[in-house]
Amino acid sequence: MQDIFKFAVINSKKAMRVTIAADRLNELIQTSSDVIIFGHENPDGDSIGSCVGMYHYLKGLGKDPHMIINNRLPDYFVFLVPDGALTYFVEDPNKCEELVAKADLLVFLDMNGMNRAGEVSKMVEDRIGHNPSVRKVLIDHHLNPRTEEFDVVVSDTEVSSACELLYQVLLEQPGVAADVNRLSIECAAALLTGILTDTNNFANSVYPSTYLAVSALQGRGVDRDAIYDEVFRSYSRIRMRLMGYMLHDNMRFVDPCVAYFTLSERIKEQYGFVRGDSEGFVNMPLTVKDIRMSAFFTEEADYVKVSLRSKGDIDVNDFAHKYCNGGGHKNASGGRLYMSLEDVPEYFESKVKEFFAR
Ligand code: 5GP
Ligand code: MN
Repeated sequence: MQDIFKFAVINSKKAMRVTIAADRLNELIQTSSDVIIFGHENPDGDSIGSCVGMYHYLKGLGKDPHMIINNRLPDYFVFLVPDGALTYFVEDPNKCEELVAKADLLVFLDMNGMNRAGEVSKMVEDRIGHNPSVRKVLIDHHLNPRTEEFDVVVSDTEVSSACELLYQVLLEQPGVAADVNRLSIECAAALLTGILTDTNNFANSVYPSTYLAVSALQGRGVDRDAIYDEVFRSYSRIRMRLMGYMLHDNMRFVDPCVAYFTLSERIKEQYGFVRGDSEGFVNMPLTVKDIRMSAFFTEEADYVKVSLRSKGDIDVNDFAHKYCNGGGHKNASGGRLYMSLEDVPEYFESKVKEFFAR
């Protein structure tokens, strides 16, 4: 069985690149003592999965890493996080600054540039700036990585998730030597969580390499059903009611093939919304036969958060870039609008017309 998994990594076209980057990563890890792992702001399953996977790998090497994420995880991902291993920047900026001040290696996961870590990236920039003795690593699957910001970059868009890419990189590490059984079960569970969530339970961005990774991780002994229960069957009652409202009263269709929702502060308050309650809503319109693009707009304190999804050739990364101050992937992107939520429908509908007129 092992050979199948070995083959997947060693013989794929990108194997040489992954191998070279993995070697350099190994050098950096071996010569560092204080490692900080960063996930992107508004963390999702791939973000926390890749961070926790890296955390356990480093722990296994006898290191004492710490994770920093800008703001809180949805409750249904907390089961992955070891006690005391993660600090949220918005909750304890001083501790984060102390940790960064003594770090000699920073690992950024599931983001294409440091700024996607959120507010915390400004602190990192101020604190260590271009200090070459603090090395920086990026492992990511988004378009257009800002390679100039890092010492080592492993970037590949032809994978399901940062977790899948991290899995490939970890298999290449000398202590693992292509044997998934040398990854701890906690590491494997975190990686599998990220793959399950970023593919929306195998609905999108699934590659042949994805099944190989999943097969190996499950073969390692990870309880996939337990993860499924934690992540996809642990939602709140509030979320169910809110979903009813959003589908029945809020969703609007725009010709030729678009649907969107807007979630205001007022409705959030009325339903008792907490972060994570609208997770996955943006995917729902894509189950309608003729709908090929969907958008979800959430009112935040200083901006409107945008989530975009699409099917097939419709490039929402392009849409996010052009009209929403953002980016992401071809079929899943996001961004921010600096306008009031009331102005969003007119703005969005006019941009949809422009986008589909081309
Ligand atoms: P989500 O809709 O789940 O928040 O984000 C979908 C994708 O879009 C993610 O891959 C994420 O990296 C990207 N994304 C979300 N928000 C932003 C943003 O503000 N800027 C950029 N560049 N990408 C974003
Ligand atoms: Mn991801």
